[in-house]
Amino acid sequence: MEPIIMAGKPVAEEIRRNLREKFAGKELTLATFLVGDNPAAHVYKRSLLKTAASLGIHTRDVELPEGASQEEAERALRALSEDPRVDGILPLVPFPWHISRMQLIRQLDPEKDMDCIHPINGGKLYLGITPWGPCTPRSCMALLDYYKIPLEGQHVVMVGYGEVVGRPLTLMLMGRYATVTVCRSRTKNLPAITRQADIIISAVGKPDLITEDMIREGAVVVDVGINSVDGKLVGDVSEAAKKVKASAYTPVPGGVGVVSNLMVMETLTRRL
Ligand code: NAP
Repeated sequence: MEPIIMAGKPVAEEIRRNLREKFAGKELTLATFLVGDNPAAHVYKRSLLKTAASLGIHTRDVELPEGASQEEAERALRALSEDPRVDGILPLVPFPWHISRMQLIRQLDPEKDMDCIHPINGGKLYLGITPWGPCTPRSCMALLDYYKIPLEGQHVVMVGYGEVVGRPLTLMLMGRYATVTVCRSRTKNLPAITRQADIIISAVGKPDLITEDMIREGAVVVDVGINSVDGKLVGDVSEAAKKVKASAYTPVPGGVGVVSNLMVMETLTRRL
């Protein structure tokens, strides 16, 4: 049987429709906060500002040069946090090496934190008392739910335990009564573990990390990885392997990434 392609577009369209209704007649402002020259952060910022504008959300674009000091960065982030006209703030990582992320993030008002990076929000996620987890793991959950993939009692092998995706996603999956095995860089015999999965989720950043022999026939594959190979965007899982072995899979591009931006906007609804 042909596998189900878990495309991000219909999921994003549904979220967009809901958000249009919720934001109608409301005045909300989203601020992006960027320090330095990281090209990926700049690309992400532009696409966020575009998505916000398309939903009638006002935007504020705060950018500091690569050489900005810790104190300057903290002052600028504090000013945004204290500005009553700003409803949500998205700090774009990575920051330049000389900036202490932990110290800087303390200046972020937890109520305006759009991607669950403030320790207070991380703590609430750990305790299972907030729906506002980070945007990319929430996109994965939205895709799984939209395509009606059951989670309760299912064995999910989460490959990658990064702060942005793997770690928070593990908590969200556990919150839905999935049985989660977490694999990371020092995991022994990764193929033997992924072969046991009902659902494989990869968030590592290594092309072709998951190959055909590592996927059980009929498993669901969620590919969060974004890698550039010869100028082409690919995930962590070989597309050929997904097509041959999976019963349903997210494509790259066109899968998880398509939904992530809208999740930032959805987080703004907590301010309504
Ligand atoms: P990260 O913080 O660098 O975490 C990477 C994780 O992969 C770590 O836990 C690391 O293990 C693990 N790892 C490294 N090599 C491995 C291997 N050979 N086998 C198994 N695990 C391995 O990365 P991230 O920020 O979570 O991002 C992960 C990927 O998702 C990247 O490709 C990123 O571009 C992508 N991403 C996509 C979206 C989207 O919207 N689609 C959004 C955010 C990120 P250790 O913990 O042992 O070091």
